[in-house]
Formats: sequence, structure tokens, C-alpha cells
Amino acid sequence: MISNNNKKALVVFTPGTKFPSISVTGTKCSQMCEHCKSLHLKGMIYISNGDELLKLAHSISSKKGTGFLLSGGCDTNGSIPIEKYASYLKNIPSDLFVNAHTGFITLQKAKNLANSGVSCFSVDVHQDEKEIRSILHLDKNPNDYSKLLDILKSTGVKVVPHLTVGFSYDDFILSAELVKSKGLKDVVLLSMVPTKGTIVEKSPSDNTIIDAVKILQKKKLNVTIGCMRDRTLRELEKKCIEMGVNKIANPSLETITWANKKGYKIERRNMCCCF
Ligand code: SF4
Repeated sequence: MISNNNKKALVVFTPGTKFPSISVTGTKCSQMCEHCKSLHLKGMIYISNGDELLKLAHSISSKKGTGFLLSGGCDTNGSIPIEKYASYLKNIPSDLFVNAHTGFITLQKAKNLANSGVSCFSVDVHQDEKEIRSILHLDKNPNDYSKLLDILKSTGVKVVPHLTVGFSYDDFILSAELVKSKGLKDVVLLSMVPTKGTIVEKSPSDNTIIDAVKILQKKKLNVTIGCMRDRTLRELEKKCIEMGVNKIANPSLETITWANKKGYKIERRNMCCCF
């Protein structure tokens, strides 16, 4: 736990409208993972060309926003077509941070994005080949994810792996090991969210998510509790903070009140939790 003036620090990320999520494919996705079926793209802002991206970026900056997530649906190869915006990203206001979610990407395209000034690469990591095929519908194997991490790391831009609870135990533990083996230190922990029309009827339990935190902490990885989780698990946020997690996205008001009473020094950041 970070100590500052004898108070334990807690960083609270509330991206909201200051750091919106942009989809370059709207609600379209060819991958159609069993746990999402592209439904999680709803609510993102759709841009269909570079001029729209520039206009939106200027609007975010003029409203004192901090940046944006550039993401979208995937093609059948697991790639999100954001690299075609690289030349436009060079011209966005310099006060904005960009979190780039690429999916599978070639080295040249990753370099182009890095040269365009993106601040961070977010990357989902999986290692259970059976689930990579059956849930994610990808013709990929665990080594493809290892290569993807190598490609993103080689650009010199910060790489933040996202590990998701709700896939198999092997998928989680082997993904954590892969991340550790690559020398990456910061991990965003997500968990499947109950979504009508998908295979996810209920969230992984508090205890399953807490066990996942323990696994990551044991590996000396810095855990951030990301925004994709079942928000009805209210006690989970407090339990994670008590375990030493000091970065959390969109906690409840109840958790913030509790943390204040417990003496945590709360730092708010209106941005994505990868920063
Ligand atoms: S690739 Fe992403 S957007 Fe598409 S279905 Fe899978 S999780 Fe959802």
C-alpha cells in the first residue's frame, strides 16, 4: 500500500465523459464472443472516419477531458481496425491521452500507432486454447498471445494486460504467468458481467474474484480493478481495497464513503484505469 502523510492512498478512476470510449466499428463485431456477442459495444461513441475522430478529440479537449479509449469490434482474426487512424492521432490535441485497444496486430501497425503518440496499449490475454476457440471464436493458440505481447512491448509504449475472471482457471493462471514472464507489472482485472443473450447468466462470485486478486498479488503484479465487473458485488470493492488493491475504476459511492472513513487518501482521476 502506498503511504502518503501516513494515509493509505487509493486511486479512483472515473472516466465518464472526460475519457469516453470510442468504437471504430460502431456495434459491429465479427468475432461475436460467447460472453459478449458484441453487446458491450453499445454505449460507445461511433466514429467512422478520421475527421470524425479529430472533431471528437477537439470536443473532448475543449470540455477539459483527459483522453479516450480507441477500440471497437474485431474482425475474425481478433483485430480491431484502429491503425488506419494513426495519421489522425498525430493531430489530436496534445493534452489528450489515448488508450489503444488493438486486439491482434502486426509489428508494423503497432509501430505506426506508437509513432502516432498513443499513450498505452490495452490487451486482453488468454491462454486456454479450448476457450480461445470455443468462447472467443479465434483460430489462435497461447503462443499467439505471447507474440502479441512481444509486439506491443517492442514499441516502447506502456502495455497493460487485461485478465478476465469467468474463463477457466487454467486460462487465468496461465495468463498471469505469461504476463509475469514478459516483465509486465500492472494488470487490469476484469470479470464477466451477466449479459442477456450471452452465455453469462451470473457473475463470478466475490470469492472467485478475490482468489484471482490473491493469485496476481502472489505474483507481485500490481492489480487494478477495472470497470468491467458486476456492480452489484458491492462488498467486493471494499474487500479488494482491504487486501491492498489501491487502484479501482468506478467504485460505488458507498465504497468511497467507507474508504474516507477508513482514512484512505483518495486521488480521483477522470480517465481510464490503465493510467
Ligand atoms: S471481440 Fe470484443 S466486442 Fe467483439 S464480441 Fe468479443 S468481446 Fe465483444
